[in-house]
Amino acid sequence: MKLTRRTFLQVAGAAGATFTVANKAMAFRLLKPAVEVGNPLDAYPDRTWESVYRDQYRYDRTFTFTCSPNDTHACRVRAFVRNEVVMRVEQNYDHQNYSDLYGNKATRNWNPRMCLKGYTFHRRVYGPYRLRYPLIRKGWKQWADDGFPELTPENKSKYMFDARGQDELLKASWDDAWTYAAKGIIHITKKYSGEEGAKKLIEQGYPKEMVDAMKGAGTRTFKGRGGMGLLGVIGKYGMYRFNNMLSLVDSHNRGLGPDKALGGRNWSNYTWHGDQAPGHPFSHGLQTSDVDMNDIRFSKLVIQTGKNLIENKMPEAHWLTQVMERGGKLVVITPEYSPSAQKADYWIPIKCNTDTALFLGLTKILMDEKLYDADYVKRFTDFPLLVRTDTLKRLQAKDIFPDYKLEDISHGASYKIHGLHDDQREILGDFVVWDAKTNGPQPITRDDVGDKLAAKGIDPVLDGTFKVKTVNGKEIEVMPLFEMYKIHLKDY
Ligand code: SF4
Repeated sequence: MKLTRRTFLQVAGAAGATFTVANKAMAFRLLKPAVEVGNPLDAYPDRTWESVYRDQYRYDRTFTFTCSPNDTHACRVRAFVRNEVVMRVEQNYDHQNYSDLYGNKATRNWNPRMCLKGYTFHRRVYGPYRLRYPLIRKGWKQWADDGFPELTPENKSKYMFDARGQDELLKASWDDAWTYAAKGIIHITKKYSGEEGAKKLIEQGYPKEMVDAMKGAGTRTFKGRGGMGLLGVIGKYGMYRFNNMLSLVDSHNRGLGPDKALGGRNWSNYTWHGDQAPGHPFSHGLQTSDVDMNDIRFSKLVIQTGKNLIENKMPEAHWLTQVMERGGKLVVITPEYSPSAQKADYWIPIKCNTDTALFLGLTKILMDEKLYDADYVKRFTDFPLLVRTDTLKRLQAKDIFPDYKLEDISHGASYKIHGLHDDQREILGDFVVWDAKTNGPQPITRDDVGDKLAAKGIDPVLDGTFKVKTVNGKEIEVMPLFEMYKIHLKDY
């Protein structure tokens, strides 16, 4: 038979139709439900599959803990445990129960308080990179086994002190780890004890003052930093205990009694790594003077500078959302377009290291245009305190008032709250302001702030220069710090 195109299409069409009919019948058979259900929203015969989802959240017990990596937030969180495995970690929503030493309670507004790191903390605990046993660097162990030979450039290479990151880490038992650590401590502390030790340190380039401060104790080459706030209480103040206990090693090394043996050196967060410290006393006169983050919620204008709540203070970031909800404005001053900057009403991009210049410029505008609250400045800042122009030091009351006796403030805030001691008070002395009412100098104490200053009937001036006579009979010029700032800010 001759197959024409027409014949082919006719045959193919008939075959296709037959196949389609058969296929549809098969499909309908497959589509027929295994179970007849009238209204699946009303009732369904088999709902066991739902338990797969429900069981995800089943737990046997829970416990709370303080999440405390090195980020200072110390969120109190709750872990949910199943089969003795922490399945998840959640916010505990109980910050309203916190109180400080004076009984002040936090508010519910602190909730929620956590971050994505905290949520996944348990995954790291069970993760493949969790450290489960001590590790000793291979080169260091060899150095110890060889009797701690001098670290000449050749030996530094031999024991990989110059390529530690590339060295192998060997699994060790705890006994071995402690033994090697003790051997290392004894080697170092003996090596740098006494005159020989001091000589070595000088040769290595340490300043003489530092070496003198060791007083011959090699244990003082150890410098320990405790850690921040609550984190330290939990885990890292152990470093201070360790340092103190090194005096036992000094006693062992140098044969000294408890009255002479010296431990390691405790270097606080402030003096050593400078976390917060320099800026705080400069600005507030106190270390660790901080704001109550809760205030952000009630602010109409929040300016973040040197701060990035979204990325670096994650549990506080919800305050920003709440400011937005209440119609407040957010300002972010950062060189980079940070996640906080993206959410701000105003982003002020500045060059790195110029934020202080920006603030001094702002201060100049505030002062030039008298936009400040003079009453507040007088009562709550150190701007009215007189400074000597001959020494650029604060004028002390004893400088100009003969036989000046420090006022008794032992029951005031300085002693009762800030923990001021008599010896510190002696050094600080009392300050002097120029009183507009008497047109003369008046002494004030550290406690004469706010209403206390007003109660003394003193109205300190902010502007001008004045002449006073010291107890030695020398006439000197003095001016309030405010006046000095006017000179300083001319550059801005
Ligand atoms: S912010 Fe995150 S990592 Fe830091 S303490 Fe809170 S939950 Fe833990």
